[in-house]
Amino acid sequence: MIRQKIVAGNWKMNGSKESVSLLVDGLLKMEGSSAQVVVAPAFPYLSQVSGMLSGSHIVLAAQNASDQPKGAFTGEVSTSMLNDFGVKYVLAGHSERRSLYGESDAMVAHKVKAILAEELIPMLCIGETLEERKSDKTLEVCERQLNAVIELVGIDAFENIVIAYEPVWAIGTGVSASAEQAQGVHESIRKYLSTFSVSVSQQSQILYGGSVKASSSQALFAMPDIDGALVGGASLDADEFIAIIKAAG
Ligand code: PEP
Repeated sequence: MIRQKIVAGNWKMNGSKESVSLLVDGLLKMEGSSAQVVVAPAFPYLSQVSGMLSGSHIVLAAQNASDQPKGAFTGEVSTSMLNDFGVKYVLAGHSERRSLYGESDAMVAHKVKAILAEELIPMLCIGETLEERKSDKTLEVCERQLNAVIELVGIDAFENIVIAYEPVWAIGTGVSASAEQAQGVHESIRKYLSTFSVSVSQQSQILYGGSVKASSSQALFAMPDIDGALVGGASLDADEFIAIIKAAG
């Protein structure tokens, strides 16, 4: 099955009005790509970036959302607010949210449910720590993180969920999983999904994330079960990010 590649840039808590404007200007100079290009600015810049991307082939993502629809949740941002600003994808369960802000598997699952309820596409991040990898728990962790979501929203909802396999030891460290290592896990994730639904497993877009650079992207994208990338640091440089997008075809 042919699955469209997705190359998504997670800008994390970086940028200013000026730098965001320069970055988007740089990306808009790129010619069309067969990959779906996605950028996830910090919340305050969503409106600015949404306006700049209007009519372009690049779509907007948010880095997080509340699991609650509205009300007395100071500091939170709802999925309907994100929808208002033209957001299409929302990250859920990024490892920084899980490890630094204590988001449990159950909380992540509720966020996925809230994102789907607004007809936005969750980008569900899963992945193991270095310790878990060393103790051979990579698949156990990925399956546990997937199970929490499958149990809450059902397997069919995965037709509208993008999975990002992001080994925690590779995020922001400069140490990417090798293409073969990543392919091995992606293949296992797809096989696991097939135990619930073969068609969902074949359709699911599974992105790799963790220190992706232009130089490593070609080998990653050549793998049969790697359907694109979630890119952090390298997405803050327009030329580098464009080179990654070009590697996706
Ligand atoms: C990320 O934040 O999802 C990520 C993969 O970061 P980096 O590319 O910087 O490792």
